[in-house]
Amino acid sequence: MLTGLKSLVRKATSLFASPKAQTYPIVIPRSDHSLSRQDLSPNAVKVLYRLNKAGYDAYLVGGCVRDHLIGIEPKDFDVVTNATPEQVHNIFSNSRLIGRRFKLVHVTFGREIIEVSTFRANSAQDDDDDDTPTTSLKGKDSARSAHGIVLRDNVYGSIEEDAERRDFTFNALYYNVQDFSIHDFCGGLKDIELRQIRIIGDARQRYQEDPVRMLRAIRFAGKLGFEIEAETAAPIKEMAHLLDHIPPARLFEEVLKLLGSGNGIETYHLLRQYGLFRYLFPDTDALLQSGWKRNDIDPEAFILQGLKNTDDRIQSGKTTAPYFLYAVLLWPSVALRHEEFQAQGMPATPALHQAANMVLDNQVASTAIPRRFSTPMREIWDMQYRLPKRYGKRAFLLLEHPRFRAGFDFLLIRELSGTELDGLGDWWEKFQHGTESQQRELIKSIDNFANDKEGPKKRRPRRRKKSNAPQRETFDE
Ligand code: ATP
Ligand code: MG
Repeated sequence: MLTGLKSLVRKATSLFASPKAQTYPIVIPRSDHSLSRQDLSPNAVKVLYRLNKAGYDAYLVGGCVRDHLIGIEPKDFDVVTNATPEQVHNIFSNSRLIGRRFKLVHVTFGREIIEVSTFRANSAQDDDDDDTPTTSLKGKDSARSAHGIVLRDNVYGSIEEDAERRDFTFNALYYNVQDFSIHDFCGGLKDIELRQIRIIGDARQRYQEDPVRMLRAIRFAGKLGFEIEAETAAPIKEMAHLLDHIPPARLFEEVLKLLGSGNGIETYHLLRQYGLFRYLFPDTDALLQSGWKRNDIDPEAFILQGLKNTDDRIQSGKTTAPYFLYAVLLWPSVALRHEEFQAQGMPATPALHQAANMVLDNQVASTAIPRRFSTPMREIWDMQYRLPKRYGKRAFLLLEHPRFRAGFDFLLIRELSGTELDGLGDWWEKFQHGTESQQRELIKSIDNFANDKEGPKKRRPRRRKKSNAPQRETFDE
């Protein structure tokens, strides 16, 4: 589709005598672009028509227009309109108002959500001229933190203003369903042709307003394989520290989009290259910087293998779990802390739990991790120490464990990244798929290992201790 785009951009630019004196928006009529109504979500089209019918302007904008022109399937459809969120909400009974920092409306059709937002003006300029509203829509609902970060961004404006406050030029392309034209306000079509990511306006100012834009630049570079244009890239390293001021819950979501969308490996390299990774995973980054390795774990090889697993799954249409990705990214730190606690004389299991607590506590200062994710993460880590213990009924019990599959996949990643586990992955692979008698044979085969430290012969009967020692946190026993 990019070849088509070239002629489209040529046509668009030839409308003007000199490209330097370009006047925006460039309007590309239906006949000159490849985006057709059939490519769009019927629900998104419904929303556009309903808004038009109620007398409002409505366009598709952002990722769906960009991705279509690049030739990839869009993830979701974002609609923008001159109706306020409340007006949109009144039109659609199947909608709800969401957001505070950025108010918008979700219109739901079964499992599909069409996000409808209202044209916004850049609150940076508006804060200075409180008394001169530029449009009748304009409200006074913007706020900034002491670091200049936009906390609330609900100042409404015109479509031109809306385009200017978007992040990158290719995200400011608007599709009008009334005449099927595309409106390019900031040169996004040209940048798609050049395969570059270019921020709208002054890069420093735009990152200052919202440091997450630095992450978004990296995300699009990883996803699209585009270059980050020089002026857009230049301030990133130096301004990366501003991510410290972003709420951990927002960064948690961004990490999932960055590393859990099918281009994790490429994106990980870019995040490290631009000095952003340390603000997302400080412990992991410090460990990687230190060059720490053990003969049973090579942190970077392991992380890359884990990201590859997620990328492969997504590319083959399988589901992935956020907790799995997070468990991968934090495992090297857990392994290091586990070693340290054991070196202090703590037995293996409590040392593991203590290590998990410590790593999770440190991590949530950067990116939140909801409990529904941290619990399975702990279980996956715990499973790594339980999977080698397969005697008697244990293997059968482990197989029933809700986190068995994730724990097993995690184990395979460890093996694939070079951890030598005596064919443990292979054993479990056979055990899972074997008949009952094959399973019994497999258990016997390990009972026969002379060097099994934790085999049944060496197990002592458990005695309850009457100590006041803190109760060991149970994972799943
Ligand atoms: P995708 O949905 O494929 O990940 P997207 O570009 O649609 O990519 P969204 O997060 O859905 O990303 O945002 C929709 C649009 O909103 C963007 O295309 C962009 O125009 C605008 N936008 C999103 N986040 C920001 C931001 N932090 N600053 C400025 N504009 C933004
Ligand atoms: Mg989107």
